[in-house]
Amino acid sequence: MTGRYVVIGNPIAHSKSPEIHARFAAQTCQDMAYERVLAPLDGFEQTVRSLIGQGVKGANVTVPFKLEAYALATSHTERAQAAGAVNTLTFSEGAIVGDNTDGIGLVNDIVRNAGTEISGKKVLLLGAGGATRGVLLPLLQQRPAALVIANRTVSKADDLARQFASQGNVRSCSFEALQESFDIVINATSASLNADLPPVAPVVFGKDTFAYDMMYGAEPTIFMRFAAQHGAAVRDGLGMLVEQAAEAFFGWRGVRPETAPVYAELRAAL
Ligand code: NDP
Repeated sequence: MTGRYVVIGNPIAHSKSPEIHARFAAQTCQDMAYERVLAPLDGFEQTVRSLIGQGVKGANVTVPFKLEAYALATSHTERAQAAGAVNTLTFSEGAIVGDNTDGIGLVNDIVRNAGTEISGKKVLLLGAGGATRGVLLPLLQQRPAALVIANRTVSKADDLARQFASQGNVRSCSFEALQESFDIVINATSASLNADLPPVAPVVFGKDTFAYDMMYGAEPTIFMRFAAQHGAAVRDGLGMLVEQAAEAFFGWRGVRPETAPVYAELRAAL
């Protein structure tokens, strides 16, 4: 029987997840259907329960429902627990399992696709919102030499550094306090959405720095242009999007799709 899956968000029309999962399904010969679902802002739980009633087997969850998805799940993977947010739900015999594949998606894109080791490196993470929270555990599991979280609202970075202190060498600071270079700089702020830059000094980029913006688009983001001007190699977040989807697909279907051809097709269509 065809397995039905969905992506739930509000808005949802822009989501590329149906294209990604359709390609994964075709490539791995999986009998599955995948649709977009627009949930009312006050109707996430009702939407999920109705989908379960219709026999849907799993859902990706996007803005603004990742916290509600966490609350609705009856059990959580370790990485979802650490993130306090869920982007992947699996429905099975009355249980709702919550996972978060954003962090492993980011790590796989940096390590496997971009060929940049995180282990032993000095990593700077800009931002302390949902995206940062989602990627911290998988990043720290790579054993970076140090991980610094910098944020406009410093108290949020402090809270995250405290929460993850047992997982590795993690500390927090303001953007202004950053006066050294890093091997890897990850922009997890939403500043690029407004063509804005987090106010970091160029000194954070050394000549061998790898700079990553979680945002993506047809053109390099303003953060990528800034980093490149100061000598960094740059990459956007399209690969993270494809890799987090691959991890969700693997969780649902038990088959690991090839991400490279899907990434190439999406990139060409941007
Ligand atoms: P949140 O709204 O939870 O957090 C936003 C963060 O950005 C906060 O730390 C906020 O600082 C900071 N910020 C916003 N504007 C500015 C600015 N002008 N200057 C400096 N800092 C700023 O968003 P998310 O964490 O959910 O998402 C962040 C980004 O990551 C988005 O662009 C999103 O699209 C991207 N993303 C990409 C994914 C992918 O698959 N490629 C997956 C998930 C996210 P403060 O705390 O001070 O308000």
